[in-house]
Amino acid sequence: MPETQETFEFLKNYIDEFPIGLLLFNSKKELISWNKYVLSLLEITNEDLKKRNFARLENQIDEILNVAEMSERDLIGLPNPVKLKKIITGDGSILLLASETFQETVGEMSHELRRPITNIKTLTESLLLGAKNDPEMAQKFLEQINGEVDRLTKLVNALLNISKIKSGKLSQAKKKINLKSKADESIKLLQPIADKNKTKITNEIPDEYQIFADPEQIEHVIQNLIENAIKYSPEGSSIFIRPGPSTGSFKIDDTGIGIAPNEISKIFERFYRVDRTRAKGSSGLGLSIVKNVIDLHGGKIDVKSEPGKGSSFIIYLPID
Ligand code: ADP
Repeated sequence: MPETQETFEFLKNYIDEFPIGLLLFNSKKELISWNKYVLSLLEITNEDLKKRNFARLENQIDEILNVAEMSERDLIGLPNPVKLKKIITGDGSILLLASETFQETVGEMSHELRRPITNIKTLTESLLLGAKNDPEMAQKFLEQINGEVDRLTKLVNALLNISKIKSGKLSQAKKKINLKSKADESIKLLQPIADKNKTKITNEIPDEYQIFADPEQIEHVIQNLIENAIKYSPEGSSIFIRPGPSTGSFKIDDTGIGIAPNEISKIFERFYRVDRTRAKGSSGLGLSIVKNVIDLHGGKIDVKSEPGKGSSFIIYLPID
């Protein structure tokens, strides 16, 4: 038995408790052993591993195994970002170490917080450069700054919630919400960005339409979906907020660039962006947050899209 395997088996009890995933392969790249933590990290079962079945990670694992030297890579296709590190030991065995990436929280924060901060900076600079001498303009800019600070506060709270979701500590204050006015609030906030893109947003939710959700969390969801609809639509497009096919469901439809069928299942993954060069200033985190929140509500999010025609994001929420 190769030395690495011997050591691995000897330490098995301890290794199982490690907060890092371990997969051990022999020099012929056959899977020999693993620890418990890797199962939850890679969302894989013990039975799968016994059959050496890595499911959706198959190609990525094969690829890293076949690289001659030690290497490191981010795995895609998992709900949480995981980094894989390959170590080749003295006897030719291969150890893959899987760990959650830390940049996740940092990336998430900067993505969501960047825009309000930039806007506040621009508005403040304009005031300092002279707008302060024009009372009407000064009033307008200060109101906008005030709105951005409110947005920042909400975002920080939402992000704190996200980190609580992940640690299983999020409490939700679900209540009946009038969806029409909730959507109106989000539209008002995003109107300046929509105007810039010459996008028309229409709220088609009936007056008395109710949903059952946490008001702040659902606002975050609606804003994110509208923002995306604006971002991924050419000038002159239209966005509609409409009731969905079942009670308590709703959808955000756009006439934008759409998403190719093979990309649809991936867009909810963290850091996934369809076109990295085109989506400047985005990090592929918005939708993973949206999905987290909807999952936590016991709901579901569905996407229908046709490239060149537009997309429809449908949210289903339990009625109570
Ligand atoms: P981000 O917008 O920051 O890249 P998201 O998680 O919100 O991150 O979205 C992931 C990807 O899904 C985007 O990069 C984009 O390619 C695609 N996408 C999201 N919403 C739409 C939409 N309404 N129309 C077309 N593509 C979209």
